Amino acid sequence: MRHRIAVVGGGPAGLTFARVLHRYDHPVTVLERDPAPDARPPGGALDLHEKLGQLALEKAGLLTEFQALSRPEGQAMRILDPDGTVLRDWQPRPDDLANPEIDRGQLRDLLIGPLDVRWGRGVTQVVPVARDGVLVHFADGRQETYDLVVGADGAWSRVRPALSPVAPHYTGVTSLETSLDDVDARHPDLARLIGDGSVAVYGANRSLVAQRNSGGHVKVYAKFRAPLDWYKDLDVDLADAEAVRSGLLTLFDGWSAPVLDLLRRGTAFAHRPFYVLPVSHTWPHTPGVTLLGDAAHLMPPLGVGANLAMLDGAELAESIATAPGDLDSTVRAFEERMCARAGKWAQITTAGLERLVSPDPAEAIAVFDEVQS
Ligand SMILES: Cc1cc2nc3c(=O)[nH]c(=O)nc-3n(C[C@H](O)[C@H](O)[C@H](O)COP(=O)(O)OP(=O)(O)OC[C@H]3O[C@@H](n4cnc5c(N)ncnc54)[C@H](O)[C@@H]3O)c2cc1C
Repeated sequence: MRHRIAVVGGGPAGLTFARVLHRYDHPVTVLERDPAPDARPPGGALDLHEKLGQLALEKAGLLTEFQALSRPEGQAMRILDPDGTVLRDWQPRPDDLANPEIDRGQLRDLLIGPLDVRWGRGVTQVVPVARDGVLVHFADGRQETYDLVVGADGAWSRVRPALSPVAPHYTGVTSLETSLDDVDARHPDLARLIGDGSVAVYGANRSLVAQRNSGGHVKVYAKFRAPLDWYKDLDVDLADAEAVRSGLLTLFDGWSAPVLDLLRRGTAFAHRPFYVLPVSHTWPHTPGVTLLGDAAHLMPPLGVGANLAMLDGAELAESIATAPGDLDSTVRAFEERMCARAGKWAQITTAGLERLVSPDPAEAIAVFDEVQS
């Protein structure tokens, strides 16, 4: 029997879920709020780990295409002291395929492939109804009914309230993101500083990270511990790029000129405070509705969120497509596995954020050394 399945959200979790179901010829409806794939800038590159994101792509039959698109050299990592001294300069071996980088837009297009995503379909609410299935309410007033609704709609999920009253809370660490275009031609000095992968600079309670994406595009993240409304204390209007830049230059005062040039030459700034769900977030199993990815287990952005989101999506789809049992027991068993795995990673990334943005910058270097070894 073919169940009526909808996934809310066309991010890494929702698209991987849909793509694996598609591989098994199981119909699935993808409901995405954005009006088009390129309606928003896609965000910085992702490193996909062999045993997480790459495993999910293998389940979707997309590993070879991923290997052709991804950049193993993007795993390179340089760490500087705020005065510019090089503390670590790690280069991957040419055959190191443990965590290659891929642009989010490339990954999205790879996953979409033949999928028929329904763009501009913002979901406002999901109501489990016992006999007829689960009712999905849309922003335009329409309603549809499905046997299973999978909430893969990210941090501020509109599906989650059907299962759990919990909302994300602020970690105390905020981030401002800027970018540089055509870095090799326009900023060759910064291109050399960043190298093929990323450069990170750690100070007390703050850090600057610049990450090379494909096509000479670079994302720069300024992270620091601060109250959520830090910009009010500095009288900074977040919509005014020059005011944000000057606020950041004050916050990072005393750091070496080449490092601060990453902020001086950045274009627009996006404010992204880090929110998380509680470690080990779970919910009472409810027939007809479940969650994947950030909607289920939003955690500090330390390089695993998208990887877990994809593996969640691939595993649930594979279980539904291959398990002979009833849909509800399949989903229940999946939720137990997913929540146990996510809880472990949430603990690791929560502890990691404490050490990476900490009063003692040596802690951040120690984290790097532990991960590398
Ligand atoms: C700065 C930063 C760097 C990161 N770096 C990495 C990294 O290197 N590696 C890694 O693994 N992870 C990384 N992450 C984490 C990663 O981005 C997330 O964990 C991942 O995107 C989660 O995927 P998702 O599909 O669950 O949710 P999302 O990516 O948030 O996708 C949710 C989708 O749902 C749609 N949506 C939302 N609401 C609705 C609605 N009501 N109706 C319909 N559609 C809706 C959204 O438009 C979106 O397309 C990083 C995060 C940040 C902030």
